[in-house]
Amino acid sequence: MADTIRTTCPYCGVGCGVVAQSGDDGWSVRGDPDHPANFGRLCVKGAALAETIGLEGRLLHPEWGGKPVAWDAALDMVADKFSAAVAEHGPDSVAFYVSGQLLTEDYYVANKLMKGFIGSGNIDTNSRLCMSSTVAGHVRAFGSDTVPGCYEDIEQADLVVLVGSNAAWCHPVIFQRLLAEKTRRPELRIVVVDPRRTATAECADLHLALRPGSDAILFNGLLAHLKGEEAEVECGVPLDQIVTFFSWFAETEKTVTLWSQGINQSSSGTDKVDAIINCHLQTGRIGRPGMGPFSLTGQPNAMGGREVGGLANMLAAHMGFDEASIDRVGRFWDSPRVATKPGLKAVDLFKAVKDGRIKALWVMATNPAVSLPEADLVRDAMAACDFVVLSDCEADTDSARLAHLRLPALAWGEKDGTVTNSERRISRQRPFLAPPGEAKPDWWIMSQVARRMGFGAAFAYESAADIFAEHCRLTAFENGGSRDLDLGGLIGVDYEALAPIQWPVRRPGEGTARMFGNGRFYHPDGKARMIAVEPRRPAAVADEALPLILNTGRSRDQWHTMTRTGRSPRLAAHAPEPVLSIHPADAIRFGLTDNGLARLGGRRASAVLRVALDAGLRRGEVFAPIHWTDRTASGAVVGMLIDAAVDPYSGQPELKHAPVMVEPY
Ligand code: SF4
Repeated sequence: MADTIRTTCPYCGVGCGVVAQSGDDGWSVRGDPDHPANFGRLCVKGAALAETIGLEGRLLHPEWGGKPVAWDAALDMVADKFSAAVAEHGPDSVAFYVSGQLLTEDYYVANKLMKGFIGSGNIDTNSRLCMSSTVAGHVRAFGSDTVPGCYEDIEQADLVVLVGSNAAWCHPVIFQRLLAEKTRRPELRIVVVDPRRTATAECADLHLALRPGSDAILFNGLLAHLKGEEAEVECGVPLDQIVTFFSWFAETEKTVTLWSQGINQSSSGTDKVDAIINCHLQTGRIGRPGMGPFSLTGQPNAMGGREVGGLANMLAAHMGFDEASIDRVGRFWDSPRVATKPGLKAVDLFKAVKDGRIKALWVMATNPAVSLPEADLVRDAMAACDFVVLSDCEADTDSARLAHLRLPALAWGEKDGTVTNSERRISRQRPFLAPPGEAKPDWWIMSQVARRMGFGAAFAYESAADIFAEHCRLTAFENGGSRDLDLGGLIGVDYEALAPIQWPVRRPGEGTARMFGNGRFYHPDGKARMIAVEPRRPAAVADEALPLILNTGRSRDQWHTMTRTGRSPRLAAHAPEPVLSIHPADAIRFGLTDNGLARLGGRRASAVLRVALDAGLRRGEVFAPIHWTDRTASGAVVGMLIDAAVDPYSGQPELKHAPVMVEPY
């Protein structure tokens, strides 16, 4: 194996290029100076990657009931259990719950097996928790799930508006690029719309600390202002700040609006997304340099999953469940039983597990027992399911403890495939470490199960390159410019040498930085749609028993449930334990002291966290990180405190607005 490998960071959706290099002290990493996402930059998480590639805590052999079992027996068992459930109860009695950590090739095989050959739509992904409201908002507005712009637009803009995005912590390299441009051009304005005074808000020219959930009111008011009307805007911020924001937006043609989980993780997230897009459509600020609505995806390959159909409501290759698409995909896969309707979205999927409708569940590379809302009920569901198989690289996750069968998957540095970042850029993840123990690629595990279920001819892959080639062919199959996702120009490409490129790639070597610059969208008439948005309040409100509102999110130096970042002492030093941020006046009101302990309680569960006073929070609101689990010493699973209210269009849960109480612990 070469001693210098170009690959891609496995954390956030920025998708930074990484150079891994072997030396006397083992492997080290640095930013890839030639990668167009980061031009050599890495954030603290990416820079610590080499500290996280050891084998401690890895699942290295298939295990049944905690005991090693041979691969053949394990694969036979999965195939038998899934086949038996389908034979007895029908295809909708089984489900896959997958992950934005999977590579596109893994995702493709999972989707093809479930939707193409088992014949059910029941494959959903943890990306449902991350950006599915953006997908729904894009489809309503554009007729396709298309991110219009690229990272360069952020640097070319004269006004950058960040809504519900703490990019300084969650998309650090993009934020570094923005700040570098701000240093070069101080006249570039930054507006941050966020209830909290985050690290991102600290750098803003204007911070609108609006009342949680009132984003759609703000952007509806902005839309009226852009049309020359004036509307009453009641977001809990001073009127002069609103007026300043509206006038800056109205007078600045080169405006990019970035958003993230603060918009998406809401019971009205799709409407909020469209309220933002409306303002860009009204002003024609889309698809042109320095302009556009721009969603930052959370995970490294949430976009790749969207592309292959990893969401239950998409069929494959950005096609939905319309008759023509079902027929087209069925012919392409040579499958007589393509799913004909969307499957269950994440929250509903686990409800179906809980009430016994799902008899066999396969969880891949994710930890729903921590990350889903009502995580306590998710645990009950998994514990009650007839058969749960989990494929992961980690041996001891909260979800792994609930699985009957555990299958060892390759990790970052060992896996081979592609990911797509927030700007539609496909990059290679390349292996530089030998597969440890008996760990296998996810695509290999699923293909082996598919063969045992009798679908061998359709899953005769020998490599990730085979799968990528088929994925490209499907995107181009009977496309003719009718669908946004077209990788026809990558058919036959040298997979090993594939350089980062933005889709669509209709001709070899020709990526696409911006979409919609020609004014044509993907609705049948070629026009975009402005969506009438009626702002709605969050599903749950504070009351006497639960008088505070809990907002959740990331710490700067941790990732998801810390299975990887938790191994780096350097990263742990930033926040060694979960912290409850609370306004000093609320701390006094509830008898809490800085650095003391607090019990944070929801309707069904509670967690204990260290108290940190933070005057950057609004009164009545608290903030807690999502990363800690009850495997860790701290054991603060905030997912158990959050009700599973979801957006009616996207199914994305409202993870940022949960009524809670606090008391000294
Ligand atoms: Fe990795 Fe995201 Fe940091 Fe880039 S910004 S190094 S992709 S975590």
